[in-house]
Amino acid sequence: MDSSQFREAAHAAIDQIVDYYDNIRDRRVLSDVEPGYLRQLIPPGIPANGEKWEDIQKDIEEKIMPGMTHWQSPNFLAFFPSNSSFPGILGDMYSAAFSCAAFNWQCSPAVTELETIVLDNVANLIHLPEEYHSTSEGGGVIHGTASEAIVTVIVAARDRYIARSKERWATEGLSEDEIEEKVCTLRGKMVALGSDQAHSSTKKGAIIAGVRFETIETAIGDYSLNGELLTNKIEDLENRGLVPFYITVTLGTTPTCATDDFDSISATLSTYHTAHPSTPKIWAHIDAAYAGAALVLPENSHIPKIFPTFADSFDFNMHKWLLTNFDCSCLYVKRRRDLIDALSITPAYLRNEYSDRGLVTDYRDWQIPLGRRFRSLKAWFVTRTFGVEGLREHIRKGLAGGEAFTQLLEADKERYTLVAKPAYALNVFRVNPPPKLAKEVEGNAKEFARLSNETTRKVGDRVNKEGKIFITQTVLGKGEDAITAIRVVGGAPAIQVD
Ligand code: PLP
Repeated sequence: MDSSQFREAAHAAIDQIVDYYDNIRDRRVLSDVEPGYLRQLIPPGIPANGEKWEDIQKDIEEKIMPGMTHWQSPNFLAFFPSNSSFPGILGDMYSAAFSCAAFNWQCSPAVTELETIVLDNVANLIHLPEEYHSTSEGGGVIHGTASEAIVTVIVAARDRYIARSKERWATEGLSEDEIEEKVCTLRGKMVALGSDQAHSSTKKGAIIAGVRFETIETAIGDYSLNGELLTNKIEDLENRGLVPFYITVTLGTTPTCATDDFDSISATLSTYHTAHPSTPKIWAHIDAAYAGAALVLPENSHIPKIFPTFADSFDFNMHKWLLTNFDCSCLYVKRRRDLIDALSITPAYLRNEYSDRGLVTDYRDWQIPLGRRFRSLKAWFVTRTFGVEGLREHIRKGLAGGEAFTQLLEADKERYTLVAKPAYALNVFRVNPPPKLAKEVEGNAKEFARLSNETTRKVGDRVNKEGKIFITQTVLGKGEDAITAIRVVGGAPAIQVD
């Protein structure tokens, strides 16, 4: 494909993409193909001779579309949204065009410098305190996903804990061999924590980092972690000779969008560290993957004020609810040194005078991969195109949709029961058994709950089978108390197609 063929093909592709967005609400939101559908449609192997773009493009509608679930459809009310926008798409186009694996400043100074600027701007946008800005000892970096951010900070937390323990043992006069012996023992005892509502990425991060993972059970109906529950857990770990070194604290959990009690968690951590002055600090990470976008609202600007008292890091996905195409997860740390100490390895071929003299940021030391895409472009385009007010309006629209749905549920209490406090445009509810069945089990709470679970499951399955809207089901609690619920979340893409 030469440049004039590319120009023509790109125009045709853009036309098709615009039509797709203009008509997306008419498509069945959830794909209903059977597993293996695509192999039957695509000829085996790579063609011996290249094909024309017209032929390739035709297959998008004929072969790919049937297997697409349309995340940008307004009828997509499942999981959490994964917003897209036209300026975001343009950002990814340029990123693809430059295709630079800009792992250090020298590889493309604009990639590094724009990322720093954009992430400071976004920090301001979401009212993140100064401690997390690049102008302090901290700063932000774009990761692919919230899960990637979590595994990265668990590794940094693990290494910081070990490094500080080593320093302490050295000051106590232990020999190098003795210290190594103690490090080996410590590694086997280190525990990463998260509530039972924390996203599974914390458990996965702990598996990858080779440390233990334990959950802290939250109360049914509330689903948020607090200082008292954390105190009890820390005591329990200490009694078992285990060492807490990391905790995920959540703003907007995946099942119900509950938010952990930052004030009491901060107080617990502070009390713990005062009582154990020589024990290295527990790293607290705030996972705000979805709901963090709501911090753009001035009425939420008080929320992050407490973060610097306890949180070493914070992450939210612009690609979930802030109009930026997947992938754009913004990780902020209070001390960039912690990431660099854990992740910086400089083979000879990566050395250069700017990095050696400490004049520049090398984001490869803030992440797991070496190469990185030019992701800040799309965040830059999105923030400039919508502006602060446009982004706030988008979040408000999502919240208003969520509130309208809450009212619908509350207006029909015989049929629906909210099982968690609606938050950040998410409603979690169960479907009550039909009145005749409910009457039959009156007074038998266990049987009523069983029937509710069954009815909810059936309704959820039927709605998704129909395919007009796409919703998700979840299970809250365990064993006999487990509640099957339906999650409906607003915040669908705000692409203006009208
Ligand atoms: N944390 C929370 C609270 C989430 O809801 C999710 C996903 O929905 C994640 C983390 C993982 O996000 P990612 O897909 O960016 O890894």
